[in-house]
Amino acid sequence: MLQDLLAVWFPHFCWGCGLSLPKKQQLLCVYCQAQLPKTYFEGDKNNPLKLMMRQQLAVESAYAPFYFAQNNPIQKLLHALKYQGKPKIGDWMAKQCYALLSQHHLLKQCDAVVPVPLHPKREKQRGYNQSARFGHYWAKQLGVPFLSNMLLRKNVTKTLVRMSRKERWKEVKNAFVIETNTNYKHLLLVDDVITTGATLTACGNALLEQATQKISVLGMAYAQNILQ
Ligand SMILES: [Zn+2]
Repeated sequence: MLQDLLAVWFPHFCWGCGLSLPKKQQLLCVYCQAQLPKTYFEGDKNNPLKLMMRQQLAVESAYAPFYFAQNNPIQKLLHALKYQGKPKIGDWMAKQCYALLSQHHLLKQCDAVVPVPLHPKREKQRGYNQSARFGHYWAKQLGVPFLSNMLLRKNVTKTLVRMSRKERWKEVKNAFVIETNTNYKHLLLVDDVITTGATLTACGNALLEQATQKISVLGMAYAQNILQ
């Protein structure tokens, strides 16, 4: 609690442990940065996230730089990004992710980046889509368009946090429609935390019904083994 307040008042405190940061250090101190649970998926063409996604959607590639873990600085960062009005954390996550993945050939084949959308009402309440800066950074690095209006979320879906795998799928399966039709062939879908992949699959299915031929997915973190 005190750490949360300190972090709001003094942005130059570490989001992980609350200690003050040297001026050049962003968001996390060296100690907390080293605690981030890396996936090392970048060297693995058939990483566990891709295998999980392929059970439901024919993705070309799937990647997340970190595992999502409770009581770890990754949890505090992603909570601040989503609920504490800190969209800039998305830039930081994108830079971390890009540093690990910039040579990955499959992601270089993508010809546009599409964020998982929030319902317009929820985006208005929050003031931003937490995946937008993350996706925008990637689009810039890849030199491709960022299509923030391509997908529309037509239902205000309930929070999926406490739902089972089955309930999540039921909640999101028809939640997305194509807002603008395009001829992009390989889209990179970006999200914050990937858990069951239900939301990405619902988005991917909506895109594949149109002209899109291939989908790759990219998350900031993979919450493996949280749900049965
Ligand atoms: Zn720290």
